[in-house]
Amino acid sequence: MTVQCQALVDTGLGDNILFPSTPGSGYQASLDSYYSLDVREIKPACVFQPRTADDVSKAIRVLWKPLSGNVAVRGGGHSIWPNNNVAGGVTIDLSLLNQTEVHQPNEPNRAPIASVGAGSRWASALLEIEKYGLSITAGRVGTVGVAGLTLGGGLSFHSGRRGFACDDVTNFEVVLATGHIVNANDEENADLFKALKGGSGNFGIVTRFDFAAFTAGDLYGGMVTAAWDQKDTIVESFIRLIDINEQNPADSQIVLYMYDPANRTSTVSSVLVNTDGITNSTSFEPMAEVPWLADGRATQTYGELVAAMSDERGDRYVWFSLCFQNNKLVIDKATELWETLIDETQDALGDVDRLIFVFQQLPRHYAQKNPGGNVLGMDESLTEDAIVWLGEAFARTPEAEALFQRRIGAITEELEAYAEAIDAATQWRYINYVNEKQDPIKSYGAEVRSPQSSIPPVVRVLLTMIFAKQNIAFMKQVSAKYDQWGFFQTRVPGGFKISHVE
Ligand SMILES: Cc1cc2nc3c(=O)[nH]c(=O)nc-3n(C[C@H](O)[C@H](O)[C@H](O)COP(=O)(O)OP(=O)(O)OC[C@H]3O[C@@H](n4cnc5c(N)ncnc54)[C@H](O)[C@@H]3O)c2cc1C
Repeated sequence: MTVQCQALVDTGLGDNILFPSTPGSGYQASLDSYYSLDVREIKPACVFQPRTADDVSKAIRVLWKPLSGNVAVRGGGHSIWPNNNVAGGVTIDLSLLNQTEVHQPNEPNRAPIASVGAGSRWASALLEIEKYGLSITAGRVGTVGVAGLTLGGGLSFHSGRRGFACDDVTNFEVVLATGHIVNANDEENADLFKALKGGSGNFGIVTRFDFAAFTAGDLYGGMVTAAWDQKDTIVESFIRLIDINEQNPADSQIVLYMYDPANRTSTVSSVLVNTDGITNSTSFEPMAEVPWLADGRATQTYGELVAAMSDERGDRYVWFSLCFQNNKLVIDKATELWETLIDETQDALGDVDRLIFVFQQLPRHYAQKNPGGNVLGMDESLTEDAIVWLGEAFARTPEAEALFQRRIGAITEELEAYAEAIDAATQWRYINYVNEKQDPIKSYGAEVRSPQSSIPPVVRVLLTMIFAKQNIAFMKQVSAKYDQWGFFQTRVPGGFKISHVE
């Protein structure tokens, strides 16, 4: 047994520790419940499953000691790269902190609060909250964790009305590197409150999220799929949807190019949702004549929809992400790169479960819901309506994974360069979607870039650097204040670290 795991046992936490050598301890079940096969293959010396914030606090008081080994923090375990598990160290698996409670307000004009444990997944949290006729600004796939998604920002079907999931957090319960349990909200530890809204795992271990809840009925939506020759109609409709989204904030669309290696065909799917339950929303009118090959839309609750969209596949995932302006030329370029990718990788595609390009809406008004209230920096940098793009391969073998890391990495660079060249680039990169080789925190600042801008490029670059540094400097200050010895920067190696950003 390692010194670290022994120290946890000596602290009286032995009942919550899972060892590889103890059959039936739950160690393997914990590893098998990660989303990514690459993460499942990482073997910690022991897995610690706290039942309370107090358990986390006791463990951190032991684990922070300098001669101890490394630590990982796991919420829902859905990150596609190993920022949530640690070889030979202690993985803190929060999955038993999975309670959801709804509190009605004591004062008029206050929102009800949904308190969600940091090990919860979206489907179970939402289905509980919906028993009260309420919802929260939630993720869109039921098995994904509440914690990682919210700490990184959180794109939701409710984003048109509410902004990012993190914007609707009213309080975080956090265990600091000292082991102290604190609340971070508007009144207590307000700097930490803001830094946790987008700053991911840089500042502490969040054990509970208190979300502002709101009344919600059924939505109308689900996944539709069409033949490849329908892509132009669908893409043009998507661009229009973004253009008119501020007036139609209940509507959202996720466009997915999907390649099926078995049939050697591409299809184009969309997840279409109206959160008000309207079945013929104006945003989707241009697709009224599309002959869908499959149409999964239904009137249902948000929780029911995301429970049906759960995904626990266990492949070797390759993800890269970009943002660019809502400009058809960039999507056309992505389409050209998609077709070339498929042509040039035919031999390897037998080892891939899926190849996907995803396009998601990021209209400017999403960033205006909580100005200055998070560290994403988009209220300054998102000067135009935008699209978040994801290039993904679900590989079955390490060889196929390595190949698509190279190929999709190169496509990302080419698409980024193209968007720059036609002045359609957008600075922000989403921490929850990027490849581990990308650098999202660097993008958390203001950008002064606009096609109409008369500011010379050199001045724009300088201004961008200055504003970006303001947000980064703020996060560095918060890290230094709440984690004086840099425990979450050095001893919890997983994730994008604020200390690594210049
Ligand atoms: C199928 C699928 C669908 C998705 N859909 C969406 C979507 O609709 N919207 C969206 O915005 N994103 C989406 N994502 C991306 C998602 O936000 C990230 O994968 C996110 O990291 C998942 O959260 P998790 O709790 O499962 O993460 P984990 O893998 O458990 O953790 C991710 C990171 O957060 C840190 N962390 C986790 N919990 C805590 C905590 N309590 N305290 C401190 N640090 C912590 C971990 O150490 C790690 O670095 C999706 C991902 C997948 C795979």
